[in-house]
Amino acid sequence: TENLLSVSDLKVHYPIRKGVFRRTVGQVKAVDGVSLEIRRGEVLGIVGESGCGKTTMGKALLRLVKPTSGEVMYHGAGEATDLAAARERELDRLRSNLQIIFQDPYSSLNPALTIFQQMREPLSRYRTKNRAEQREILADLFTAVNLPADFMDRYPNEFSGGQRQRIGIARALSVNPELVVCDEAVSALDVSVQAQVLNLLQELKEERQLTYLFISHNMSVVEYIADRVAVMYLGRIIEMAPAEELYASPQHPYTQALLSAIPSPTLGERRERIVLTGDVPSPAAPPSGCPFHPRCPFVQEICRTEVPGLRLLESGEHVVSCHLAPVGG
Ligand code: SF4
Repeated sequence: TENLLSVSDLKVHYPIRKGVFRRTVGQVKAVDGVSLEIRRGEVLGIVGESGCGKTTMGKALLRLVKPTSGEVMYHGAGEATDLAAARERELDRLRSNLQIIFQDPYSSLNPALTIFQQMREPLSRYRTKNRAEQREILADLFTAVNLPADFMDRYPNEFSGGQRQRIGIARALSVNPELVVCDEAVSALDVSVQAQVLNLLQELKEERQLTYLFISHNMSVVEYIADRVAVMYLGRIIEMAPAEELYASPQHPYTQALLSAIPSPTLGERRERIVLTGDVPSPAAPPSGCPFHPRCPFVQEICRTEVPGLRLLESGEHVVSCHLAPVGG
């Protein structure tokens, strides 16, 4: 399959500064060597607890935060660009292809302007400056996200959470992107509304041949929408596989623990519950060896000193970073 984005060894490290002279006393390794491919037309799910670096990674892929190092090759129409190294001018040009939907679109909407007034700017920049055409584009989009077209003339505070998220989706799609990063896009919504918005995202993806990077802490939501899933822990990917395979036979103890907390439709209550003890360690002071070792129920001596590499399992599409994996192999 053709890759839309190829990410290699991406790092985002922040300095920790202290005192009046703001001396650097350490580093937060928010993203610490992520490599992955996003294939054209797929939904790649990214899961992990808060603080695992998934949001920072999503933003770094779109250059909303600047990576410390690594490569983010974007394979656009007939050209390849390293977004991590691209200049502002070039990023500006490519920005319309790469959009993001946040958990709460309200925070990025201006309460003093109608939706139309604030959605004009990106349209003017990337599609048309003609007001009538802009209204037509937005009317079509509002219809596509199941909102009345005249909602564009209202103010952000007039909408419910679900409606705002539909507006957020319409806004992201208004510039005809190829890749949309959905960052906890349904997490703030009621469960019933979540399902509607997920279905809408699926439909829009098919209609408009979109590719999604779908970031969420919610394993069930990701299972519903993702084709492949990567599990992040302390800034690294510790397991990645086609969704069906990951949910049916997770190999990393951390993935097993995340999954044992949700009811399984196939295994039901027979799945053994693995309870994680302790919190996610600070990315400013990650543990030695396997970053999961202080919380792992299967920890061995080697785990405390040696970082396990990412190993490719027999199925050919499943990678895992654990000294004990594959289980029984
Ligand atoms: Fe647990 Fe060791 Fe595997 Fe890390 S490498 S997940 S500590 S068994």
